[in-house]
Amino acid sequence: MVQSGSGRLPLEWFRDRLATLATMHQKEIAIAPLLKENLGLQVTVPHGFDSDRLGTFTREVKRYGTQLEAARQKAIVGMELTGHAIGIASEGSFGPHPAMPFLPSNREIVLLIDRGNDLEVIGEAISTETNFSHKQVTNLEEAKTFARKAKFPQHGLVVIANADANGITKDKDLIIKGITSEAQLIDAVQWALKQADRVHIETDMRAMHNPTRMKIIAQATEDLIAKLQKTCPNCNTPGFSVADRLPGLPCGLCGTPTDLTRSIVYRCQKCQHREEVLFPNGVETADPGQCPYCNP
Ligand SMILES: [Zn+2]
Ligand SMILES: [Zn+2]
Repeated sequence: MVQSGSGRLPLEWFRDRLATLATMHQKEIAIAPLLKENLGLQVTVPHGFDSDRLGTFTREVKRYGTQLEAARQKAIVGMELTGHAIGIASEGSFGPHPAMPFLPSNREIVLLIDRGNDLEVIGEAISTETNFSHKQVTNLEEAKTFARKAKFPQHGLVVIANADANGITKDKDLIIKGITSEAQLIDAVQWALKQADRVHIETDMRAMHNPTRMKIIAQATEDLIAKLQKTCPNCNTPGFSVADRLPGLPCGLCGTPTDLTRSIVYRCQKCQHREEVLFPNGVETADPGQCPYCNP
């Protein structure tokens, strides 16, 4: 990776400052030690924080806004609960991989807001390593087969009775979350089969029941740290990171600009100083197969 002319984070910027991590799913296990070790931040989890009112994976409460808006809202609520000037939150999403749509993927963001310095930096990780899955089953054997593929019982499961075709119910009492033992699974499926012929079963994506996801959250935290550690060469504010990718990598045969990235732009949130780095992937020409003129 080509570096911009950024500086190194002054050690005292975050050291021993108090930060609130708004979670009720034990994400501090993945996030707090990394921030302590690398930035010196003291991360605490607020009492009485209810992230479920900002949306649930099991859809009985719709998510507040986009993934980024939901994370930002959590961080703000956390800061309000504790009065700390630094708020941290994470938010995950699951769906087809943007570059490989036939593969399921997990995108995690970990956001840090530093109110004292008017700063917001977003760490990100995307991975195809996820057990994210769901199924409608009609008997216990099918449920057990699903469970084996979903890495149960190390990963938790959710059973929903009387759900619609999309696995949605508005009735909280028809959702059993946090199933982590064979006995719980049998009880839940048998109970749900009494309510309807088909039972919706899915992976529990809450971090404390999903070690695979916890690992991706740690990767997003590492990305956040790497971004914070780069400072603006003009004003020294942390988080001097890539704000834009500009297309136009020239075709190797005829020189026509292609849609491939020619340069990346780093920008400072505080002073708007920008730096453009050419050929970030180390290649200066595009394959003619990507050229709109050679290969229309
Ligand atoms: Zn700056
Ligand atoms: Zn060409």
